[in-house]
Amino acid sequence: MQNITDELINKGIKPSFIRVSVLNYLRNTIAHPTIETIYNSLKTLIPTLSKTSVYNTVELLADFGLINVVTIDKNESRYDGDIKFHGHFKCEKCNNLYDFSLLDVNYSDLKNFIINTKDVYFSGICANCVKGGV
Ligand SMILES: [Zn+2]
Ligand SMILES: [Zn+2]
Repeated sequence: MQNITDELINKGIKPSFIRVSVLNYLRNTIAHPTIETIYNSLKTLIPTLSKTSVYNTVELLADFGLINVVTIDKNESRYDGDIKFHGHFKCEKCNNLYDFSLLDVNYSDLKNFIINTKDVYFSGICANCVKGGV
């Protein structure tokens, strides 16, 4: 996890065990986990972990641009270790979040605007759920 440690140091963040562990976990999952899921996945690795410390850690990582917060669902933030620009599809049936790549997004209408965040969200029924019959 040396590369993860270096990433934190390069941003001027102290690479504590919890920060390294959470960032490493998010970089290695495509599940876009919630606070709850991150907590449940890491609590055996980090016995002192609490949901509050997970929350504080992901907020810090997001503030420094190391992860993205996906707020497609008003009630529940999901966290994404993939910081390349991509779209998200939320399945209304299984609740999974899927990534999709965005190749030619044209936002020339926003010439001279300062863009701070870019979010592209679709929702519907995913292919797995369609296959399983609704
Ligand atoms: Zn689905
Ligand atoms: Zn994503």
